[in-house]
Amino acid sequence: MGAGKHLAAIEAHVGAFVTNENVRHQEAGQLEEQLRKRLEEVQNESRELRARMIEAHRQAATDTVTGLPNRLAYEDRLEQEFARWKRFGEPLSLLVWDIDDFKRINDRFGHHAGDKALRIIGQSLLLGLRETDFVARFGGEEFVMLLTGTNREDALMVAETVRKEVKESGIHSVGNRVDVTISCGMSEFTQGDTPLEVFSRADRALYEAKRSGKDRIIAR
Ligand code: GH3
Ligand code: MG
Ligand code: MG
Repeated sequence: MGAGKHLAAIEAHVGAFVTNENVRHQEAGQLEEQLRKRLEEVQNESRELRARMIEAHRQAATDTVTGLPNRLAYEDRLEQEFARWKRFGEPLSLLVWDIDDFKRINDRFGHHAGDKALRIIGQSLLLGLRETDFVARFGGEEFVMLLTGTNREDALMVAETVRKEVKESGIHSVGNRVDVTISCGMSEFTQGDTPLEVFSRADRALYEAKRSGKDRIIAR
């Protein structure tokens, strides 16, 4: 083989190699791009799933009638606040609320108006609470509140404001103002208490409030 022929063969070989490398390079680039896109998709899907999970959790903890936290959320929060109370010893008060003669409101105006009343009263309960306080619909026409950093005297003042707010705002049905009142039993956590004991005391106080004429707050 002459020197010229030999060189041409080498050139052809190198040329083929370069072309081949370019193709491989291009393919690798395409593959990288595909993977990058897929990764982005997976990340978006995971973000979406996370958002859906948070929303599902929020829904599971929310009462559909009033939009307030429900009993499940209350149980969760009580556990947290109880642990914090045991650890830091800041005062903690628990209040149980029950709308007075709510059955009559339903009987007179129907369930739909009753539900509306529940929503309005739920909002009244929220007013005057601090961000660290908590209110939930416990069930039926009963609500429960946790007031953090709040002793018996302060809790009584908060409760009094809420009671007045409910009484003064009333509810409205076809243009008519309907008086509605609410009763409350409350108790402060004291040394050695379990959440159940505090709830029982507050619940008994609520019963006393009902028996002694309603539209009042009793602390035990
Ligand atoms: P008291 O002052 O002793 O609490 O009397 P009350 O009528 O409020 O108490 P009672 O336990 O006899 O009745 C509670 C009523 O609350 C019965 C039920 O019709 C009504 N109620 C419970 N849950 C709902 C609800 O989700 N929507 C509506 N509209 N009414 C409800
Ligand atoms: Mg009740
Ligand atoms: Mg009631």
